[in-house]
Amino acid sequence: SARIGVLALQGGVSEHIEALTRVGAEVVAVRTPEHLHGLDGIVLPGGESSVLDKLLRMFELRDPLTALLRGGLPAYGTCAGLILLADTVLDLAPGQQGLGGLPVTVRRNAFGSQAHSFETELAFAGIDHPVRATFIRAPLITEVGEGTDVLARLADGGVVATRYRNLLGTSFHPELTGDDSVHEYFVEMVRAAQNG
Ligand code: GLN
Repeated sequence: SARIGVLALQGGVSEHIEALTRVGAEVVAVRTPEHLHGLDGIVLPGGESSVLDKLLRMFELRDPLTALLRGGLPAYGTCAGLILLADTVLDLAPGQQGLGGLPVTVRRNAFGSQAHSFETELAFAGIDHPVRATFIRAPLITEVGEGTDVLARLADGGVVATRYRNLLGTSFHPELTGDDSVHEYFVEMVRAAQNG
């Protein structure tokens, strides 16, 4: 079966653990470098990306996790997790550095104060029904690199889900809606990589 870690330093950890468990993954809460051993994939949850960046260093997870990602470990970043995976981040907090790997540019807190948080339904390439999506101080994907697929857009065309090889990123939180289809999509990615 697919053994999937959820980075468990801060943010929306338990909802991801529950969703992945519902779709049949074996889930590991990742707090130490040892927890990274033997993973087939990892989820980087939402929260606050600048805080996650600091905690990754404090817990000595940043370097081993970066090495695993460069080696092709499948990863799914939601919201702050997407910011960690993005190659380029606009409006970084002072001193903040990402992990990179996903060839996109994202803008932190791109929706401004009026649209702080909202919920909508999105067509998602590879999923056969509209996906419920919750946005909370979300980043927007403003540029998409060569070879990177756009999987979902807002009605105004703004890109909110992308995939490059084994890296998946969404601006939104699917784990807060009870719709597990994006988690299912990621588990399928992980299984394909296992058999690959
Ligand atoms: N605004 C947060 C950040 O910059 C992300 C918010 C979220 O993950 N829901 O990291």
